[in-house]
Amino acid sequence: MAKRPMRMCIGCRRRADKNALMRLVCIDGEMMLDANFTLGGRGAYVHKKEGCIAQSMNAKKLEGALRLSRGTVKKGDLRDLHARIFEKIAVEIDRDGVATSMKDKRRRIKFL
Ligand SMILES: [Zn+2]
Repeated sequence: MAKRPMRMCIGCRRRADKNALMRLVCIDGEMMLDANFTLGGRGAYVHKKEGCIAQSMNAKKLEGALRLSRGTVKKGDLRDLHARIFEKIAVEIDRDGVATSMKDKRRRIKFL
């Protein structure tokens, strides 16, 4: 069996099959969701689970994972990023039954 690429989730810090994770990148200082694994540069990986997503919305964690200098990731950007992640993967999350109440919990996430 071919060895499948493994990556660490920056939320729970567990390793997982790359395809079970989503990829976040920072391009020109802007955090983006790389939904199709097509963008270049270093990526940070996160499970498609509300807990992991919530824990990953942390400027220091993202800056560490992406090797960015401190202050590159802004709290406002994280709010936008989280909104975009939610829009793109909410359907998938609902289908998996992982986070049906994510909409409510989204409001409680603290952007660090
Ligand atoms: Zn995780």
